[in-house]
Amino acid sequence: MTDPARGRRRIVVIGAGAAGTMAAIFAATAGAEVTLIERTKDGGRKILISGGGRCNILPMVVDESRFVTDSSVNTLRRIVRSWPLAEQRQFFERDLGIPLVDEPEALKVFPASHKARDVRDGLLAYATGAGVQVRMNTHVRDIAPTRNGWQVTLTDAPPLAADAVIIACGGLSVPNTGSEGKGLDVARALGHTMHPTYAALTPLTDGSGAFASLAGIALTVTLTAKAGHRTAQATGGFLFTHHGYSGPSVLDVSHVLVRARAEGDATARLQVQWTALDDAQWELALKPHGARTVTGAVRAEMPERLADALLGVANVDPTRSLADLRREERLRLIDTLVRGVLPCTGDEGYKKAEVTGGGVSLAEVNSRTMESRRHPGLFFCGEVLDAFGPIGGYNFYWAWATGRAAGIAAGSAAGSAAAELLPPEPPESV
Ligand SMILES: Cc1cc2nc3c(=O)[nH]c(=O)nc-3n(C[C@H](O)[C@H](O)[C@H](O)COP(=O)(O)OP(=O)(O)OC[C@H]3O[C@@H](n4cnc5c(N)ncnc54)[C@H](O)[C@@H]3O)c2cc1C
Repeated sequence: MTDPARGRRRIVVIGAGAAGTMAAIFAATAGAEVTLIERTKDGGRKILISGGGRCNILPMVVDESRFVTDSSVNTLRRIVRSWPLAEQRQFFERDLGIPLVDEPEALKVFPASHKARDVRDGLLAYATGAGVQVRMNTHVRDIAPTRNGWQVTLTDAPPLAADAVIIACGGLSVPNTGSEGKGLDVARALGHTMHPTYAALTPLTDGSGAFASLAGIALTVTLTAKAGHRTAQATGGFLFTHHGYSGPSVLDVSHVLVRARAEGDATARLQVQWTALDDAQWELALKPHGARTVTGAVRAEMPERLADALLGVANVDPTRSLADLRREERLRLIDTLVRGVLPCTGDEGYKKAEVTGGGVSLAEVNSRTMESRRHPGLFFCGEVLDAFGPIGGYNFYWAWATGRAAGIAAGSAAGSAAAELLPPEPPESV
């Protein structure tokens, strides 16, 4: 179905989000005739709301072990390494002309303008400049293989024919940005193995209201979520909300509790170390010291209202002097401060989730080209795939890397030939 007049491959990319726009750019740069279809009027809406409107475009360092997938970890690593961080930074700064700045304390990278709009608009402008035909307000209803390629069915317009289709429709998170799960539905309907989807990087709720009076208090904690064989740990910002808990540390471990609830696993547990002090350091901090009370000692290490609440949880008399603190009270208090159990009865789900966990199994795609192993000429990239990373720019890193790989491969004469443009696969053992 290659356009005989020009000999160019016709590529349809579905979704002008982070991954789709990147895929369209690289497919066009590879010489293809590219149409980028987007159901919203302007595309890239998750980019616009990302990083509090500043767009945490990349992490400063990539720790591969922090990605979460139910697929093969080796496959995930190969994909993550396909476009190294330094090259991604160079692409934004040199090719797109978007200067970047580091935020070392959080290991995050932002556009120097601190405007997410510059990233969204910069990508779309570059795509248009590379010859991509962008069709906003256009809704893809279905895709189907034909004898020579693919047919893309649109809701209010005639169908499109293509040599290859790149699915970049995102997942199910924050549906009002345009992602409605269409890519997942299409992949499933075409017979791909799917890992169960779940809301990830989402705030947690607590119906018990045990800490509701602390809403607004923020601090740095270490959280550990455990349920069956799954565990996640994160150190970072924590915020008490009116309904429960939010902040990077909460979002980073939330998937373990979300999945446990979906699977009816009652063993799920959320533990918190409220300060950087461990058992031995708290033993020192609680040593008798003049007339100092236990409240004074705990308040010295954390917000006062939280200190008071935790003394209540540990059932320790707040007026007691450290000299009078009994051994079992001290041990109970230290246990609460270092391994406190945080009551949690639910989560904010996809409405607030920054990403969707699960999706198209990585085993179903060629890790160099992102081409479906079931359907030649069909490519996947971004959130529709079974992987997500923690807060900190990891999810855009994934979107950029998978979008580029899919674009290069789909846009070239043949997906398999395009693999030569990508780095060789590292050995399984790395
Ligand atoms: C509030 C929030 C803040 C975030 N902040 C960050 C951050 O700072 N750093 C970071 O790394 N990650 C962040 N993320 C995660 C990041 O935004 C996503 O991982 C990333 O956008 C996924 O890219 P994608 O292209 O796969 O999907 P999406 O960005 O969801 O794009 C999918 C596109 O496909 C379109 N589409 C869907 N179905 C159809 C259809 N049937 N027809 C036509 N078009 C369709 C949608 O309208 C959408 O434009 C944040 C997410 C949220 C929700």
